Amino acid sequence: MSRPQQITVLGATGSIGLSTLDVIARHPGRYQVFALTGFSRLAELEVLCLQHRPRYAVVPDAAAARHLQEGLIAAGLSTRVLSGEAGLCAVASDPAVDAVMAAIVGAAGLKPTLAAVEAGKKVLLANKEALVMSGALFMQAVRKSGAVLLPIDSEHNAIFQCLPVDYAHGLARSGVRRILLTASGGPFRETPLPALAQVSPEQACAHPNWSMGRKISVDSASMMNKGLELIEACWLFDAQPDQVEVVIHPQSVIHSLVDYVDGSVLAQLGNPDMRTPISHALAWPERIDSGVAPLDLFTIARLDFLPPDESRFPCLRLARQAAEAGGTVPAMLNAANEVAVAAFLERRIRFTEIASIITEVLNLEAAGEAGSLEAVLAADRRARILAEQWLERHGR
Ligand code: NDP
Ligand code: MG
Repeated sequence: MSRPQQITVLGATGSIGLSTLDVIARHPGRYQVFALTGFSRLAELEVLCLQHRPRYAVVPDAAAARHLQEGLIAAGLSTRVLSGEAGLCAVASDPAVDAVMAAIVGAAGLKPTLAAVEAGKKVLLANKEALVMSGALFMQAVRKSGAVLLPIDSEHNAIFQCLPVDYAHGLARSGVRRILLTASGGPFRETPLPALAQVSPEQACAHPNWSMGRKISVDSASMMNKGLELIEACWLFDAQPDQVEVVIHPQSVIHSLVDYVDGSVLAQLGNPDMRTPISHALAWPERIDSGVAPLDLFTIARLDFLPPDESRFPCLRLARQAAEAGGTVPAMLNAANEVAVAAFLERRIRFTEIASIITEVLNLEAAGEAGSLEAVLAADRRARILAEQWLERHGR
């Protein structure tokens, strides 16, 4: 048997990171953890190191690195602890690594994910914000290095599974009419509109079908998540925004669909458990056990579909406009959203003000070309400053 594949898990302490480690642990002969990274949950990272015995661990700074290193030495482990963005990029691009799970949340994941892409790794992309920010550069880097990019987002993983195996040259050449991106509609799908201004972070994070990190949970409640996914789909599948239609499907059993010109519509179904797309991408093109329970259609019994309501979910409209505008607009949208979501989680703004902040940032800041990483990062920084200024004026 061949040697186990070496896997780096960026964002190991998060929801996707832990699901990835659950799948890896089911296949010890096939996968070995090369590196684990954490940011604030460092006691949890230490426990994960004891379980998975990685060659490297990465933490935010030198003091945290010393602390973890001492703990690991005391436990008899030879894991080396690195720190900061340089540490993240090093474990993402190390020659000994076969595959990188990119599961850091937000813009913080961009440079390490790009490092994995530029090193030509098999990149399992959960960190959609990285692609939203830098789509053109990111996809260029994939083509240049020959990296194998596999989507982890359940919708994009579903679309990937429904497209032809050799899909490469755009939807039309493969006979695809459009992509149907399903969305659960989140916890506020039926909340009376006036009540949306009063909802709490706890209510926003109580997703009906999926258990996820707090930022993506709020994004799901506002449907910014679907907006980011629309942009993500355009880059991954070389599609135009008007070729991607959002369909509300409250049961989250169909993870997305591909509509072909001959009238065939292919869908991927499964229980809402991220271990399915994670296993699919880890083993691709093979299939492995993920630990996910088989789908019981008789228990599900019915599947519903509704059009999205953009007056309820203005973030979806903002993201579609950003997708159409291109350039640095998606990076600004993403940055303003990150600041706004953090402020909502800290109870400094109302849920409905997330869209107000993003609207103002996009109105104030002129769009530019996203031709270099510097341009993308400058747009990101500028949008964060404008969003913070909004908070100073209006936030609690
Ligand atoms: P979590 O919040 O659960 O985990 C985020 C991870 O990123 C944690 O390991 C966290 O470390 C780390 N992290 C946070 N900030 C930084 C930073 N500044 N520098 C380095 N590391 C950092 O999020 P999820 O696992 O839910 O989501 C991760 C990504 O996957 C997101 O981009 C999300 O959109 C995407 N995704 C998630 C899905 C899900 O079901 N959860 C589904 C589809 C996509 P620590 O915890 O130690 O602070
Ligand atoms: Mg998704």
